Amino acid sequence: MKHRSRIAVVSRIGFLLALFFVVGCDRLVDGMMQRGIKQRTESVRTDLLEDDALNVFLCGTGAPLPDASTAAACTLVIAGGQIYVVDVGPGSQEVAQIAGMPTAALGGVFLTHFHSDHIGELGEWAMQSWVAGRDQPLDVYGPPGVDRVVTGFKQAYRQDDAYRIAHHGTDNLAVAATEWRPHTVSAVDGPGKTILERKGLVVTAFAVDHRPVEPAVGYRFDFKGRSVVISGDTDQSTNLELNARGADLLIHEVLLKELVGRMSDVLGEADQPRLQKLSGDVIDYHTSPSEAVQSANQAGVDTVVFTHLVPPVPGLLRSWLFTRDIDPEDVAVVVGEDGMLIRLPEGSREIEIN
Ligand SMILES: [Zn+2]
Ligand SMILES: [Zn+2]
Repeated sequence: MKHRSRIAVVSRIGFLLALFFVVGCDRLVDGMMQRGIKQRTESVRTDLLEDDALNVFLCGTGAPLPDASTAAACTLVIAGGQIYVVDVGPGSQEVAQIAGMPTAALGGVFLTHFHSDHIGELGEWAMQSWVAGRDQPLDVYGPPGVDRVVTGFKQAYRQDDAYRIAHHGTDNLAVAATEWRPHTVSAVDGPGKTILERKGLVVTAFAVDHRPVEPAVGYRFDFKGRSVVISGDTDQSTNLELNARGADLLIHEVLLKELVGRMSDVLGEADQPRLQKLSGDVIDYHTSPSEAVQSANQAGVDTVVFTHLVPPVPGLLRSWLFTRDIDPEDVAVVVGEDGMLIRLPEGSREIEIN
């Protein structure tokens, strides 16, 4: 009897401890959730939408080769109360969301060409910006062929649209935002064509040289006297130099041609002819760091940011490898990193990098 009552006391204490543990854990979890939700809502950078400066955010500085520290091609431009994304490479949506970019204010997607490392996350950018609160149709600009890309992605996402609307209701998810509108821009050499004017922002598209991949374009954004040019993928391009003339900032793709050439040779020696061919082929239609600096010089641009860095190089080596052949006198060079925010304030020549 005595033994039984001792067991009863011990089990009662055990039950109370378990109850305390569960309730305590729940409180702990609730507290963590409250803090997380508060941080998440407060961390959305709506301040950028009210800024008079031209802001640029790097949402992907990598390329098709896998690299845990970089998303594929993506640059955000924030101006006049909206954000505009140039290329939507795989992984880029997450980089933008984690940094608190106000994706509900997505005013347009600009595709430079249709390699997968530039278009792979179109569906996610459209869907996530819609869930974040975008309530207007999504305009997608690109060279001839953009309508096929938009139609294909839309087809793949149509069922998802229907699930979410049926589940959450049209008061919470605007039906109008499920419309994606393709806009074809010219990819002919010469002065670029204005493709968008809105709240002081002027966007121009111009042809670049990514042959044998055609068409391919770059974009220039002018806002309140400040300007940024985004190259897309290109070999060194005189047409880019023409259209970048006088810009404040050039965001240019780069590829280490000599290193990639050596990689290709090593693959050949390792009896990997297919990989040797694939890696050797990419050298022709990209730009080396020193060529990108030459283009900045030709265009009279003082600051160039390297993006689309090929091959992926880890850590400290990255900066050294991509800048070692450059004369620092030529132009200010910034090796782009995912999450970098660049601010060009109105009425000055300043470029602030965070
Ligand atoms: Zn490409
Ligand atoms: Zn690319």
